[in-house]
Amino acid sequence: MAGHDKGHRPALTHVPTENAPAAFVEKAREALADTSLQRALGNVRRGFVLKRAAAAAKLPEFDRLREEARAIKDHALAHLDLYLEAYERKVRESGGQVHFALNAANARAVVLALCREAGARLVTKGKSMVSEEIGLNAELAAAGMEVVETDLGEYIVQMRSERPSHIIAPIIHLNKEEIAADFRRAHGALPEARKLDTADDLVAEARAVLREKFIGADVGITGANLLIAETGSSVIVTNEGNGDLTQTLPRLHIVIASIEKIVPTLEDACTILRVLARSATGQEITTYTTVSTGPRRANDPDGPAAYHVVLVDNGRSEMLGGDFHAMLACIRCGACLNHCPVYGAVGGHAYGSLYPGPMGAVLTPALQGIDGARHLPNASSFCGRCEEVCPMGIPLPGLMRRWREQDFARRNPPLKERLALKAWAFAGKRPLLYHGLASVLMPLLAWAGRGGSFRWLPLLGSWTGGRDFPAPQGKTFQQLYAERNRRKP
Ligand code: SF4
Repeated sequence: MAGHDKGHRPALTHVPTENAPAAFVEKAREALADTSLQRALGNVRRGFVLKRAAAAAKLPEFDRLREEARAIKDHALAHLDLYLEAYERKVRESGGQVHFALNAANARAVVLALCREAGARLVTKGKSMVSEEIGLNAELAAAGMEVVETDLGEYIVQMRSERPSHIIAPIIHLNKEEIAADFRRAHGALPEARKLDTADDLVAEARAVLREKFIGADVGITGANLLIAETGSSVIVTNEGNGDLTQTLPRLHIVIASIEKIVPTLEDACTILRVLARSATGQEITTYTTVSTGPRRANDPDGPAAYHVVLVDNGRSEMLGGDFHAMLACIRCGACLNHCPVYGAVGGHAYGSLYPGPMGAVLTPALQGIDGARHLPNASSFCGRCEEVCPMGIPLPGLMRRWREQDFARRNPPLKERLALKAWAFAGKRPLLYHGLASVLMPLLAWAGRGGSFRWLPLLGSWTGGRDFPAPQGKTFQQLYAERNRRKP
């Protein structure tokens, strides 16, 4: 059962097709023209938006819980050093070890050394965004280890050498026919004529293939949704149970998590879990919520012989107390992606970052620098839906605006755009000039558009390239407002 059947092996090296944030504009255009992707993106509304709304409506204290959850994170971040030390002490007391990794290279080196020490040949992994952030799979694969993602969505993106296209639904961009074709290619030892028509067929096949991996694994690596300082525990939430098999069966369990995942107490963790599941999938609670503390004890029926936690900084401590501090409260629920009209139009891959959508538009420049990621905070209509639904009340549009300011200050936008913004700011700061210009331009544009809309306008080519620009009514907003007030009895 535990033998390695080559026909069942997914691609060993998880090296996603690279697509940098700098290519956003080009990738967004491709995404808009991709009819299969557009169909798949329709599932975001059906699968997440409506379910979240229903779950929130069923819980009268939902907004109060959100405030409590935010207060817990604010407190934990304000005392991060103390809680990290307390957490480390508790992990040691329970028989585990904690390793602090300042950057991605440190974190990869620690995990690789632990795996080597354990004589690992086969490593199973639960879903972990930070392990993707640091490029862990490629490092282990280069050292000759077989690394298998066990979350079904992650297993499929690994098979395709892609990045996840959503932080909680990695294959939201795919349909079942595409997945069936992938399975036929990757599971070459299985009969070609087998039935793979339904989601149940696909799940059954993945389950059978992954079972061998779970049983044969030497090391299991999981992420952590939360780390509890009071008990030295890590918490994972899944709907498949793969995380439990990943961390329970191998001899060594490695938890890899970024430092801001810490919360003070088990009760705090429960408060956050109540808003996490509802905000993410509209569930009251995920199917599996697993709290693990240390290695197997003498009376435990199962569990790993060794337990290590790798705490990854990778730029987080630089965000503490700075302009983007609030982003560290993110619990990776994905609600901001699900409600974002830009994400809903172009999907996750266009962002060229592991973290797409509004949360990625703030986090990616914080981790990689604004110069290469400048399109992401600019890819927002600032409609404010992301902030409205964020369970942690993160002011995402405000943070994106800060990135735009820094982008402008670094002279990254093209000259034409900078001059236009400067001219706008110049006029905006001089009300008389602004109103004078507006009262000349509005009738002119209304006459030119003649009650219809423009197909092209100077400086607005990106807008009119994709949609019409409605011609104004001929009067400024303030003129219309004054007229309406005059008509009032
Ligand atoms: S920013 Fe808010 S809504 Fe978006 S993933 Fe993070 S916690 Fe969820």
